[in-house]
Amino acid sequence: MNVAVIGGGGREHALARKLASSRRVEKIFAVPGNDGMRDVAEVRPEIGETDFEALADLCIENAVEWVIVGPEAPLNEGVADFLEGKGIKVFGPRKAESKIESSKAFAKDIMERYGIPTAKYQSFTDYDAAYQYIESVGAPIVLKKDGLAAGKGVVVATDMDEALAGLDALMEGADAPVVIEEFLEGEEFSLMVLVNGEYTHSFEIIAQDHKRAFDGDEGPNTGGMGVYAPVEHISESVRKAAVEQIVEPMAHAMVAEGLDYFGVLYLGAIVTEEGVKVIEFNARFGDPEAQILLSLMKDDFIDVLEKVERKESFELTFAPGHQVGVMLASAGYPLAYEKGHTIDFDDVRDACYVSGLKQEDGRWCTNGGRVLLVTGEGATIEAAVDAAYANVDRVSFDGEALFLRRDIARRALNQGRP
Ligand code: ATP
Repeated sequence: MNVAVIGGGGREHALARKLASSRRVEKIFAVPGNDGMRDVAEVRPEIGETDFEALADLCIENAVEWVIVGPEAPLNEGVADFLEGKGIKVFGPRKAESKIESSKAFAKDIMERYGIPTAKYQSFTDYDAAYQYIESVGAPIVLKKDGLAAGKGVVVATDMDEALAGLDALMEGADAPVVIEEFLEGEEFSLMVLVNGEYTHSFEIIAQDHKRAFDGDEGPNTGGMGVYAPVEHISESVRKAAVEQIVEPMAHAMVAEGLDYFGVLYLGAIVTEEGVKVIEFNARFGDPEAQILLSLMKDDFIDVLEKVERKESFELTFAPGHQVGVMLASAGYPLAYEKGHTIDFDDVRDACYVSGLKQEDGRWCTNGGRVLLVTGEGATIEAAVDAAYANVDRVSFDGEALFLRRDIARRALNQGRP
């Protein structure tokens, strides 16, 4: 069959690679895709990810049977509604359901009403009321912009100065509400869940992202600077608790609210002293979690989608080893950064997932904030970390133009200690 992947980042590179290994897939279209996807997909940069008419035409002309949506923006704009209206099957929630990611206030409200454990919160549109609330609660405290912000609309404030500066920054010129929530202390993990209405299939292994820009979890929040899986020091009983106390009740809650979710639900969870709680839900695979989870997954991705479509129970099979991914990012990211720096990763191409890069005159040039995820695998987490950084060393780039974290999977190496 022919399939299409919407999006142009590393997650979509991973989806396209995974689909290319399916015995059932003949051709993959990537819309808009990126130059890194050309070896597995027909890349169509002239079609934007929210250019629905052109996307539908492409699917109809090429008898595309499944469209798999990577990023949140097209979901939030209603790509699934539009394509399904044209009779095209989409793996990804419709606009109403993708609100679970695009509106934090909406997601929090459902969690509160159905008793799903998450940080206490209040939502504000009025600056003075928000200011007073922060003063009454004190720091540490977390402020979030209500809306899609690519991981950059969150301020985790450790003191009052940071909290009030964060409030100014998030409320300036914005009419969207700001969600202010209790700071939760604990270790985070990411769980991917395949959802079809009340049916859920939670991945059997969890991953851990590294959100902060710099080593030691310092610096601003980013879209994700590195990842590893599985996370063996977080026990299976914690994953199970997340499934039973969060994932399954959330699927029921959505159905009770009249929502019919179909696609991947990403649970960002935190293990607190009071148990596992929700940090956030996303309406799609995590990036960079998808890159390593899909490469560990042995099942045929189309078979998996169709089992979810039929609400069949099944087990996913993951390779026994470990995978680690290290993100190379443009200096300055997540704030302003330069583009157009050269990078050469030909020696380790198969271990890399391309996001913010394009090809110019046969050279790879930086074209975004997060640029390339370099992965490594091994029988142990130590071996996988070594392999990932050995692969990084085989990439040549200007160390002033790009940066990376040197401590990915540190918690796993330290058996859960920071
Ligand atoms: P993403 O790109 O993952 O969608 P986002 O903008 O939706 O990011 P969140 O995932 O809600 O933002 O928050 C980003 C990070 O901020 C979390 O991974 C976590 O490290 C931290 N954080 C968020 N909420 C809390 C909280 N209540 N307590 C402590 N830390 C938090």
